[in-house]
Amino acid sequence: MQASIADTLQRPLRDLRLSVTDRCNFRCRYCMPEEIFGSDYPFLSSEKILSFDEMERLTSIFASLGVQKVRITGGEPLLRKNLPELIYRLKLIKGIRDIAVTTNGSLLKKFASKLFNAGLSRVTVSLDSLDEERFHQLNGQRGTVASVLEGIEAASNAGLEVKVNMVVQKGKNDQDIVSMAKYFKEKKHTLRFIEYMDVGNSNGWRMDDVVTKQQILNKIGEVMPLEQIPPNYPGEVATRYRYVDSDEEIGIISSVTDSFCSSCSRVRVSAEGKLYTCLFASKGFDLRDLLRSNKADEEVAKVITDIWNHRGDRYSDERGNGTKKRSKVEMSHIGG
Ligand code: SAM
Ligand code: SF4
Ligand code: SF4
Repeated sequence: MQASIADTLQRPLRDLRLSVTDRCNFRCRYCMPEEIFGSDYPFLSSEKILSFDEMERLTSIFASLGVQKVRITGGEPLLRKNLPELIYRLKLIKGIRDIAVTTNGSLLKKFASKLFNAGLSRVTVSLDSLDEERFHQLNGQRGTVASVLEGIEAASNAGLEVKVNMVVQKGKNDQDIVSMAKYFKEKKHTLRFIEYMDVGNSNGWRMDDVVTKQQILNKIGEVMPLEQIPPNYPGEVATRYRYVDSDEEIGIISSVTDSFCSSCSRVRVSAEGKLYTCLFASKGFDLRDLLRSNKADEEVAKVITDIWNHRGDRYSDERGNGTKKRSKVEMSHIGG
């Protein structure tokens, strides 16, 4: 039986989001705008990012504290060399029941089979539009919709379960909500709409840019009626809806208008080994130095337990009507 530790709001530690690189081949405006993340941006050097040995050790320590699910993210995780090897190693850790990868899909065609053969069962692909021109505007003129769709196809053919994430921004891609829904309903991949969030300090977020869960539901419901269905498990982040005329479903992640902090059991570790107890945290706790000192696993576990026991984060519950003025970690650092 796995141990379970709780924070100040009695939330257990269950999910680990592990960022394997801070680099990305896209420059999505809401995450890594080109003018900030330009060619001279000081990305982490290889000795500063955790090695696979360190990630494996850390994950097994987290597993001993109750973590059951790991999501590999970035930056763009498929840029990390030999990623399938890491998946293979994490799969073997006792207590880890589920591993998923979140990717922009641009390199998925190349890696889909290797990831599946390494033991990965699920992948989430981010795609904000099916329109090549809008896609380009949104992601800093990189990649193509066609290559992402090929990546999705390859992943599905390789045996991976595919979900698609679409971040919806008013006036930028809300005209694509219905076409995306139709396309992925037909392809039988669950599409999840994400309310645009005020993560980081560089995307200039405004409440006016958010398309709410209700607005998304209304748009789709006018053409394809939906009914809400129960969560797959307690604390599921996306609210699920099924099309009344089929078994296909969509999800909505409504961090802004209908927050879910009370069930948040996620811890995030950046590529350089900093632990963040919230997506909107201003401060991370350095685990890399701890791992590189000669501390035993039990001592590292004790530090993590102490951090988690003191956790009281509920940023989205407290957001109110505007961005809270505080410095926050960048999304590209901790990968969502
Ligand atoms: N590069 C990978 C990708 O794009 O899937 C993994 C990292 S990315 C930071 C993880 C997810 O965060 C993506 O689905 C992305 O669309 C989402 N994201 C980034 N910035 C966001 C924001 N401001 N609001 C909502 N979602 C955001
Ligand atoms: Fe890269 Fe993902 Fe951020 Fe886009 S959302 S810039 S693909 S890390
Ligand atoms: Fe969890 Fe922080 Fe998001 Fe609330 S705001 S759900 S505590 S990550």
